[in-house]
Amino acid sequence: MSKIPLAALLPHEITKALNLAQEFRGKQIFKWIQKGTIDWNEMTDLPGSLKPEFASKADPRTSVMESLTGEKDISYKIRIKLFDGLYIESVLLVDDQERKTACLSSQVGCSMGCVFCKTGTMGCIRNLGAHEIVEQFHILVSRFGEISHIVFMGMGEPLLNLDEVRKAIAVFHHPLGKNISLRKMTISTCGIIRGIKDLALHGPHPRLAVSLITADEETRKRLMPCSAANSLEELKGALSLYQKETKKWITLEIVLLKGVTDREEDIRKLINFIPPLRASVNIIPWNPAPGLPFKRPESLRIQWFRSRLTEAGLVVTQRYQKGNSIDAACGQLFVTE
Ligand code: SF4
Repeated sequence: MSKIPLAALLPHEITKALNLAQEFRGKQIFKWIQKGTIDWNEMTDLPGSLKPEFASKADPRTSVMESLTGEKDISYKIRIKLFDGLYIESVLLVDDQERKTACLSSQVGCSMGCVFCKTGTMGCIRNLGAHEIVEQFHILVSRFGEISHIVFMGMGEPLLNLDEVRKAIAVFHHPLGKNISLRKMTISTCGIIRGIKDLALHGPHPRLAVSLITADEETRKRLMPCSAANSLEELKGALSLYQKETKKWITLEIVLLKGVTDREEDIRKLINFIPPLRASVNIIPWNPAPGLPFKRPESLRIQWFRSRLTEAGLVVTQRYQKGNSIDAACGQLFVTE
């Protein structure tokens, strides 16, 4: 990359990077970039004499949208080409109140190797820079209009690229930019204990969702090799710390795999695992992905699982299966050259 990528720089960082004599110019450029402007000529409050120099030094956007697939007014998946020729995918979800959520990737691929996840079969090719995370959002906004919510749940494990995710959150949250509240941003992790503790102690504090998958330790280790090094007890300790520091509820994501995580013992162990955490359970019936040896439970079994948790007094939600038909649902993102 020969030019300075600008999408994830804060106003004072732009001032410094472009060696600007006047600090307010950094704010002006930041506002334009966060509006999604990529043409220096459209930045009308900048002096024309400076624009050629800016254009030669810095790049408002380094990635481009290559293709788009979608289910009208429900979900859309975009394929993005990065500056080095690699590809990632991002998703826009629209709920029944027409609220839009951007599902952003944090890595090209993922090293965690969860055996039920298509992205996990790619391995991790590289971390995304903060600007590449922010640019996904800008590309989605340019195509679909303003977006109110963000979830770091696309390709990759965000807590293994925490520094860059932090920078992206700071940009999304900035009052001169999109000014998105931390309550409207969610980091979804497979349970990286070091990262959860780091986030708890040093912030920022968006909502936290954890792919617990099951509270049966042996099954979890089999499904999520990355969890082998961390016991459920250690994970619970990290979540307690996050809750103590943030006072926020945590979401535990349970992926229902027929005969694997939808058993009586999964329910019993989950009910035992949660207290005294204040956590809601998000049930995600598995999204079929070609080549993976699992099945989604029948709807009656899903209802049974859900009602057993509700009867035990847990707060339970079930994710509507958005994006299935375009392979944009959780665990289905996958790119090849
Ligand atoms: S489920 Fe998440 S952490 Fe696990 S392999 Fe897939 S993308 Fe990575």
